[in-house]
Amino acid sequence: MDERRAREEEDGNRLRREGSAPVELSSLERVLGSFGEDPEGPLFLFTAGIHGNERAGVEAVQRVFAALRERDGTPVGRFQGRCVAFAGNLKGLQKGVRYLDQDLNRLWTPKKLANLLARDPRKDDAEEAEARELLGCFEKELSRAKGKVLIMDLHTSSADGPPFSCMGDTIPNRKLAFALPVPVILGLEEAIDGAMLDWFYENGHVAIAVEGGKHESKETVDNLEAMVWISLVAAGNLCAREVPRLGDFQRLLEREVRGIPHIVEIRYREVIRRGENFHMIPGFKTFDWIPKGTALAEKDGRVLRAEEDSYVLLPLYQGQGEDGFFLGRRVPRFWLLLASLLRRLRASKLLPLLPGVRRHPGKKDCFMVDPKIARWGTVQVFHLLGYRRRRPEGDQLVFSRRPQW
Ligand SMILES: [Zn+2]
Repeated sequence: MDERRAREEEDGNRLRREGSAPVELSSLERVLGSFGEDPEGPLFLFTAGIHGNERAGVEAVQRVFAALRERDGTPVGRFQGRCVAFAGNLKGLQKGVRYLDQDLNRLWTPKKLANLLARDPRKDDAEEAEARELLGCFEKELSRAKGKVLIMDLHTSSADGPPFSCMGDTIPNRKLAFALPVPVILGLEEAIDGAMLDWFYENGHVAIAVEGGKHESKETVDNLEAMVWISLVAAGNLCAREVPRLGDFQRLLEREVRGIPHIVEIRYREVIRRGENFHMIPGFKTFDWIPKGTALAEKDGRVLRAEEDSYVLLPLYQGQGEDGFFLGRRVPRFWLLLASLLRRLRASKLLPLLPGVRRHPGKKDCFMVDPKIARWGTVQVFHLLGYRRRRPEGDQLVFSRRPQW
């Protein structure tokens, strides 16, 4: 074993030894920890366990808050702003299930939230009650914040795989996501309706989701903890020199993602509808590269194959969940630089010049595309300008993007 590998292994072992006791779930409360009171500095919110079977995030943030409290009062500079971590699906966490009645990470569309707030709380199902309480917590924190606001939502998955982040492709989100030495997946949030981070995007905040690895792996907690520390430094809550193990955390993540492309965009999502019988073929991990034609899963007796060479993302190896798997492809970094430049030049103004494309008559910053007229490549142009969300409206497709703050 060479010297570098030996050092990396030692870093990993040390991080594991220094980890805290396992999560005591029966006494779990909504606020997992908070630190700092300065409303002028950055407010960093963390959510863990939005899916109740994903407990590693809870342990990761508890480690971070324990360490912050331990060093409180020591003369190592000052914590800027405030950070707070929330347990997501409290009842789900206590029972160890993804959800009880419905997925808590699909409830955050403006329409569903408006309905929720207009209704008698006694009629809430399990996850609606969780969403109502979380919303109250978020609003309380946001009302006090005078500086920038960031949120990181911590997840884990049923398949093996390295850590990575997902973000809506806005420039402020990129700054945080690229500060983490893990791959970034574009378009995952847009493929899903009603993710909690949507609510933050719509309100103009920086919001990214991170996946730490397989649910029950010990490494997953370490990966998530590393991402929380690095993010607190990237956001300006802490200076790099105030996190003595920052180098260990960086190296740990770099080792986990070796050989994996830096940016991947979603090209395909396999949706599982109610009553469908889905079975993922065993052995796939997130970021496995597969050639076109590879058999991935069976659904109602039909074999599902990759339609192009792809990276497999988040294959589903658990009972609950609506996404069977995602397929993605690598995005060259220059493409993102080009995208930034075009957005700065407000090139979206030129989109109606493309054949089959016109502005949406009722919705701001949305375009309608007639698939019968639009040329090949139109989708790529929309992606380049950040319009990754695509929804049918009659026989037209409507493209929209995150608010560009
Ligand atoms: Zn999750």
